[in-house]
Amino acid sequence: MIEIRYPDVLLDSLENGHMIIDEHFVVSYWNRWLAINTQINKEDILGKNLQEFYPDINYKVLYRKIKTALTIGTPTFYDTNSSKKFISINRNKVTTSSLKLMQQQVTISPYIISESRVMISIYDISELFEAKLLIKKEMNKVNKLNEKLEADRDIIDKNIMVMKTSANGFIKDVSSFFCDSFNISKDELIGKNVSIFKSDDISDIVYRNLIETLKNKKPWNGELKYKTSKNQEKWLQSRVVPILDLHGEVHELNAVYHDITNEKLLAELYITDSLTKLYNRAYFDETINMIVKHQRKADSDFILVLVDIDHFKLINDTYGHQVGDEVLVAIAKTLKGSLRDNDLIARWGGEEFVIMLKNITLNEAKTIIEKVRVNIQNSIIRDNIKVTASFGLTKYIINEDSKEIFKRADDALYEAKKDGRNRVVVR
Ligand code: GH3
Ligand code: MG
Ligand code: MG
Repeated sequence: MIEIRYPDVLLDSLENGHMIIDEHFVVSYWNRWLAINTQINKEDILGKNLQEFYPDINYKVLYRKIKTALTIGTPTFYDTNSSKKFISINRNKVTTSSLKLMQQQVTISPYIISESRVMISIYDISELFEAKLLIKKEMNKVNKLNEKLEADRDIIDKNIMVMKTSANGFIKDVSSFFCDSFNISKDELIGKNVSIFKSDDISDIVYRNLIETLKNKKPWNGELKYKTSKNQEKWLQSRVVPILDLHGEVHELNAVYHDITNEKLLAELYITDSLTKLYNRAYFDETINMIVKHQRKADSDFILVLVDIDHFKLINDTYGHQVGDEVLVAIAKTLKGSLRDNDLIARWGGEEFVIMLKNITLNEAKTIIEKVRVNIQNSIIRDNIKVTASFGLTKYIINEDSKEIFKRADDALYEAKKDGRNRVVVR
């Protein structure tokens, strides 16, 4: 039989409680820690029954535990939880704690088996218990946050166009709202390159600028023109943010889009002539007034051309007003086709047009406009209609206002008409 005996001095020096009792619960040892924490002196309890001091313990269970410890010869645990203490010990020394009673772990070990005596050890596990409570509380908070995050994510998913791609534009994730707006399913999009949305007629400069900015690891803001699976065009106010990996390299791109197609269409409508689709007079006026007001040298180097179709009344009279309109559209097309993209062409009103040519000499401009005149003269509209136009051309003189340059162009045009039409006059 194993007989374990610890000297009293050792048990007294320990920072936890130790008592020795027999199977009838008679106390034969009570260490210093117990005496201090329970305020029951050794002399008062030794030789007495524990039941006198602690009637609330479940002695049926305790008896079974004692027997188990004595027969098996190894320690067993006495089940305690926050409501069922083995013996209640106040934690009045601990001021920061929310726990008033000490949380305990209680083991029952065989002590002197021949005398059916066991040692009951009480360990203070309040701090561990508190830590567990704290973790539980924190976990609750985390769970609540996660729920909120999930709800927010759902709102974003259903109401905002967002997309996550690899550094080179392969789609990793995309919001439902994006899919709905582009009439395409998420499954179809994952793994595809974002370039499938690129509209053919958006300027390469925009894309080059986007790529360059992201290469420099900076967010890009701008307007992109995308096309949907049904070939509808969408203008998107876009923000593309590069996400860096641990080495500081771009490994993902996050994009947020806002559909501005309607605003774009409205803005376009506002500056477009509805018949010819050229810019309208209001836009041309605004542009020229801005240049004249700011007098920046780079902008101020321009040539103004007034165009008036010759004998247009005759076209209307001969073929009707509707055909007259068709002729206006055809001439607008010829003007556009004969000039550069950054030349500004507007319908000035009726059968008159106005052109702004930038950064060229008067001679170069004359050559270009001469070509335009020939193109109009040579074009055959509606199989057999031929028209000509007259042109008044002049260069902007720094510091003059818009009335002055228009007057000069108008004079030149008047001269072209007077001299027999279908000609270009420079002033
Ligand atoms: P000129 O060579 O002297 O310019 O002769 P013109 O007949 O062109 O004379 P003018 O420029 O004074 O006349 C403009 C005519 O253009 C008047 C009008 O009948 C016609 N016109 C003006 N606006 C429109 C339009 O929107 N559609 C059509 N079909 N005709 C227009
Ligand atoms: Mg006219
Ligand atoms: Mg005319």
